Amino acid sequence: MLDKTGILQHVAKTDTTYDVLVAGAGPAGIGAALAAASAGAHTAILEARGFFGGVAAVSHWMPMNRLFLRGESRGAIHSLFIDKLRSLGPDACREGKTSWVDGDGLHIHPEYLRLAVYELFEETGCDYRIATPVTGTQMEGGRIVRAVSAAKDETASFAAKVLVDTTGDGDLSYHAGVPTVTGRETDGELMSVTMSFALCDVDVERLYAAIDEYGNEEFQDLIRAGEDDGYHVAAWYSFDRSTLPGIVSVNNGGWKRAGRIDATRPEELAIADRSGVQVAADFIRIVHERQVPGLEHCRLLRIGAAPGIRETRRIVGEYVMTLEDAIAGTEFPDVVARRYGAVDPGGMDEGRDLRTAMKSGHAFPYRSLLPLKVDNLLVAGRCASYTHLGLTAGKSMGNMMALGHAAGVAAAMAALEGVRPRDLPVALIQKSLREAGVEL
Ligand SMILES: Cc1cc2nc3c(=O)[nH]c(=O)nc-3n(C[C@H](O)[C@H](O)[C@H](O)COP(=O)(O)OP(=O)(O)OC[C@H]3O[C@@H](n4cnc5c(N)ncnc54)[C@H](O)[C@@H]3O)c2cc1C
Repeated sequence: MLDKTGILQHVAKTDTTYDVLVAGAGPAGIGAALAAASAGAHTAILEARGFFGGVAAVSHWMPMNRLFLRGESRGAIHSLFIDKLRSLGPDACREGKTSWVDGDGLHIHPEYLRLAVYELFEETGCDYRIATPVTGTQMEGGRIVRAVSAAKDETASFAAKVLVDTTGDGDLSYHAGVPTVTGRETDGELMSVTMSFALCDVDVERLYAAIDEYGNEEFQDLIRAGEDDGYHVAAWYSFDRSTLPGIVSVNNGGWKRAGRIDATRPEELAIADRSGVQVAADFIRIVHERQVPGLEHCRLLRIGAAPGIRETRRIVGEYVMTLEDAIAGTEFPDVVARRYGAVDPGGMDEGRDLRTAMKSGHAFPYRSLLPLKVDNLLVAGRCASYTHLGLTAGKSMGNMMALGHAAGVAAAMAALEGVRPRDLPVALIQKSLREAGVEL
């Protein structure tokens, strides 16, 4: 039974020095926080939004791909997450494989995801705090002493020995002075920003039969043709089965005419949000007017609580992971994770032909989690150290959780041993990950 005092005991405190402080509670941050707390480090996680889960939470039932490897969990942290969701009943999640990425993941009910993450943090002893964006740092030389958050009534700050940046946007690193890059190297182009939405009253079997019958592209053309009638359409659409009858989640490429959106800039994010809401509402009008099979009677159930962001800042780390590494399957002596699946260019044309090019299961080096210039910081998730296409090679959420797992283990070790993350013997991190069932 919940009680107010019990809940407050879990909330991250400003008068404590944590061993490990994680900023950002998407798949990477959840992995990092659970790993650090499970390793015995006094851990807290700060989340900017009013809920945990990152893209998984705003994109309703979109598959968290690569949570499994050959049908089995990828290690102790993935198991904690999967087992918790399964324990919440049949509506919480369902396993599924998606076509070209051969998903190997879970379609997760967004509300049960929130419950699962709360329970996991509480059970592993990880303090948490929502509505707490990291907006600055207090530095001493090359170390972050406190992460600062400008809150509604006061500016709060949180002390920690080692920090992990899993904000997706590299906010903590940016404020600490870590060099960062944004977008494609040649022109700064970014993967699209997407407002996902969910439909109810879908004739699900008829919908998937129609997609098979028309062909995926031709089926999407039925919807995209709505632009001829003045409606706002997305660059592409894809449909995920949910855990509930008649409900389907719609992933998409964002408004076709949105252009480049840098989601670290609120004015540009407004374009994605405003147009995303319109694309969702217009979708309903289009499929009704055009009697798109399976969707004739569908209704709008939910629009994402925020746009889903694929790419913003990436840090410059000790090693910059490239697409070429992913294709060649470069082995690194400091491997701390493997990325499975395919290149996922988020709808960018340049990536389309590359989808199957990468080696599924390629190595990911520890050095790509280690930022330049700051000594007590690790960075995991989509803001780690990659080239633009290096990021697209295996950006599935299960892979991001694996990077978080590695960063969390290393952060806990560094904090408990009193050494800089970059001075840790990598063999010790690898040993700990292997003992947690991670295949390196
Ligand atoms: C529309 C879309 C569709 C996708 N489709 C799939 C798919 O089908 N399957 C799949 O596996 N992957 C998919 N991906 C990729 C996958 O979702 C991402 O690669 C993954 O979510 C990245 O994880 P992350 O934890 O690094 O970042 P995010 O999920 O972006 O999480 C970052 C978290 O940090 C928080 N945050 C941001 N700034 C701050 C701050 N200053 N302080 C504190 N907290 C902060 C955010 O609120 C958020 O909760 C998709 C991505 C998008 C955007």
